[in-house]
Amino acid sequence: MKIGFLKESEDTRVSLTPEVVKKYKNSGHDLYLEFGAGNLSNYSDFLYKDLLTICSQPDVIKSSEILVSVNPIYLEKINSDFSGKIYVTNFNSVDSKKYISILEKNKIQAFNLGVIPRTTIAQSMDILSSQANLSGYKAVIKAAELLPRMFPMIITAAGSVKPAKVVVLGAGVAGLQAIATAKRLGAIVEASDPRSAAREEVLSLGAKFIEVEGAVEDTSAGGYAVKQTKEFLEKQKEEVSKRLQLADVVVTTAQVLGGNSPILIPKSIVEKMKPGSVIIDLASASGGNCEMTEDDKIITFNKVKIVGNSSLSSDLSQDASNLFSNNVFNFLNYIINDNKIQFNSEDEIISQCNITKNLKFN
Ligand code: NAD
Repeated sequence: MKIGFLKESEDTRVSLTPEVVKKYKNSGHDLYLEFGAGNLSNYSDFLYKDLLTICSQPDVIKSSEILVSVNPIYLEKINSDFSGKIYVTNFNSVDSKKYISILEKNKIQAFNLGVIPRTTIAQSMDILSSQANLSGYKAVIKAAELLPRMFPMIITAAGSVKPAKVVVLGAGVAGLQAIATAKRLGAIVEASDPRSAAREEVLSLGAKFIEVEGAVEDTSAGGYAVKQTKEFLEKQKEEVSKRLQLADVVVTTAQVLGGNSPILIPKSIVEKMKPGSVIIDLASASGGNCEMTEDDKIITFNKVKIVGNSSLSSDLSQDASNLFSNNVFNFLNYIINDNKIQFNSEDEIISQCNITKNLKFN
């Protein structure tokens, strides 16, 4: 099939890396890439040039049956040139309702990779997991950069340095990677999460689990945590606040299904934190876990640095692009059979991520 990959307007990542080009070629597809699409992730056009066609955006759009990008192309750029094509991207970063009407009007079948179900079969297509893993790592590296202290304990002739204390709130994909990274750097790590499965994972990484009783769990939520009761959140705040006052670094990743992120660090707790300590709030795009967080900003409050950034994986654009490209390849492999788009619209993965449901597919 003819598959085109668009250049991002505001992201360092690209949805096709040279490593993944080979997989498409082995499956017999023709590929089109927009000029300079990989430049910001250090994949220059030169690295692709013998394997695919590099051309302008209008030519990529006209030549391809399937179009792919990391983030949706600007709404005003979607026009009749897209008609009848398939568009695969992450619609979580935009107001998808506005897009759906324009996509359907132009008869573009669109798939949102940001809502791939959390099932075993879909794991290789899950962009949220692949990017969260990188964000968890980068959160700790960023904190280490901003912290005026070391992470590991050292003993020298000039005296000893105590290990940094790190608290991780939300031990899902990003949180567990943050724990593993902080442990590798020599910090003492504690973590909190309402899911009982997270407890075992935290302990297996050598971190301490902050026990809070009364969590609400729902196994039908597909791996997501559900909204917690006021009582649980109060108890958790109490338990966590004792640790936060002693912490050097806090990484927050807590998200709940279909809602705003819970506030786990109110202003009153930030006021009690140590001067120089750092909060990295990875949940900032959905409201943040710290009351003081400002999305896409680093602020200093009461000598505590608060980083609001939900897209830290973009800072690791080479690896992030490679994993994203693999996710896209696996998804397309799932919907392409015998060189044709063929899928069952009742299939769990398809029905969850196909957002243009008013269009019939033939
Ligand atoms: P997420 O991004 O939805 O949330 C991050 C974490 O925040 C979760 O662990 C959640 O329990 C936690 N959280 C929610 N409320 C909290 C609170 N009040 N205090 C502290 N923590 C709170 O989750 P995620 O990282 O994407 O994944 C969650 C689980 O789903 C993990 O076990 C992961 O392995 C699983 N998962 C499975 C698949 C798959 O099988 N394909 C894909 C993605 C995730």
